[in-house]
This record gives sequence, structure tokens and C-alpha cells, in this order.
Amino acid sequence: MAVKKPELSKRATNVLRLLKREYPVAICELTHDSAFQLLAATILSAQCTDVRVNMVTPALFDSYPTPAKLATADVVHVEQLVRSTGFYQTKAKNLVGMASQVMSRFGGEVPREIEDLISLPGVGRKTANVLRSVVFDLPGLPVDTHVGRLSRRLGLTKLEDPVKVEYELNAMLPPPEWGEFSLRLILHGRRVCDAKKPKCEECLLEKLCPSSNLPTKKSVIEAKNVTLKKVASKSLNKPAKKPAKTVIKKVKKKVAKK
Ligand code: SF4
Repeated sequence: MAVKKPELSKRATNVLRLLKREYPVAICELTHDSAFQLLAATILSAQCTDVRVNMVTPALFDSYPTPAKLATADVVHVEQLVRSTGFYQTKAKNLVGMASQVMSRFGGEVPREIEDLISLPGVGRKTANVLRSVVFDLPGLPVDTHVGRLSRRLGLTKLEDPVKVEYELNAMLPPPEWGEFSLRLILHGRRVCDAKKPKCEECLLEKLCPSSNLPTKKSVIEAKNVTLKKVASKSLNKPAKKPAKTVIKKVKKKVAKK
């Protein structure tokens, strides 16, 4: 049965209330000292962990501490510095392009408006919203892989497209809460609601989460193995404790044919 919109807003509000209790300080885990540094780090974080990004940015910012320096960088040198974050050629090109446009179009200052931010190379809505909410204290709800996954598991959305998910979540919460809602979902996704092994039994959202009883991959495989053993032991007319491996193989084949 479809959940009505006011109920979704209520659920989102309750999720936020509980997450605030669990994570009193909503932190962005990308190390940065300025808008420019956070912008560069967020560009590097595509398809890469924050931990890995934090390992490469000190050397990057040592060599290129400002947009003016990075705008004139040798792309090959930037590639070497960011290589371990993956997709390094594209990322290096985008970093230099971003710095160059920040200099030529915005007088060396990272812009605040979302339309301006997403006009920079390598900057999508997620990155733009990170900048707005973390350094500019403006409304912005970044939807990364954790926010998308948790929002779906919590029944707040059924959509996969991050931009559509962002608009749906935006409608459920007041604008000042958007950024920290995203940050706290990310923290919870990393610590508890893992993509493959959600720890529902220790999750503070368990009571209001419609996915809390969903079987994990591991439990599905375990259940299948138990069924196979039972069928095999029936065939042998023996107790279920020690079914012959060969019989299990035969049964597996039979099951596969079905
Ligand atoms: S109850 Fe389970 S699926 Fe739901 S948010 Fe918590 S860990 Fe994730």
C-alpha cells in the first residue's frame, strides 16, 4: 500500500530526530580548510572513499593551495597526485578546469548558487549541495550512494535517480535541515546500514524501518543451504545432520533445472 506524503514527512522527521540523538555532531568526513579545498576533495570523492581522498589531498593542497595555483597546474602532475582515487585523468582535468573557471568567471571565489556551481567542470548536484550545506550554511541535500540506499530502505522514496530522490526528500523536511539530514544518513550508512550487511538488530531506526525484516544476502544463502540439506537427507532416508555431498550436488542440479 502506498504511504501518504504527510506520513512520509513524519517518518523523515522521526528519522532525523533519532539520527540527531545518535550523531549529535553531523560532520563531513572530507578534510578541508576552505570552500575551494572542499570543492576539490568532493570532485575527487566520486567513486572513491573519503578515507582515500583524505590521503591524497594534503599533497595536492601543498602544491596547489589556491584556485590561482591549480588553474595554472600541469595536468600530468595533478594526475600523479590524485592517481590512487581512480578515474584520475578525468578528475585531474576537472580539477584544473574547475580552478581555471573559478578564476576567470568568479574572481577566484567559489560560487554559492547551485546553477553556478554545477556549471563548473566535474561538479554535479551532489557536489554543489555538499558545498552549499557544509561551507556556506545554505540549504542543500547531497544524495550520494548512502543517502539513496537508506532513503529507499526507510521507505522515504522508491526512486533510484539521485536528483529525483533529492527533490522528494527536500519536500519532507525544512530547508535548514537538508544538509545535516544527508550527513547523518551518510554516517549511519557507513556505520550501521551497510549496503550488503545492514546491522538491523543494532539499528536505532529499526522500529520505523520497513526494511528491518528484509533478509540479507547471507541469510538467503543460509536458508537455501538448509533446504538443500533437508531434501538431500530425505532422498537418503537419513537424519538431516550429515547429508552426502554427492546427493547435495544432485539435488542442486534438480533445483537448478526447475
Ligand atoms: S533497520 Fe536495517 S535496513 Fe533499516 S535503516 Fe536500520 S540497518 Fe538499515
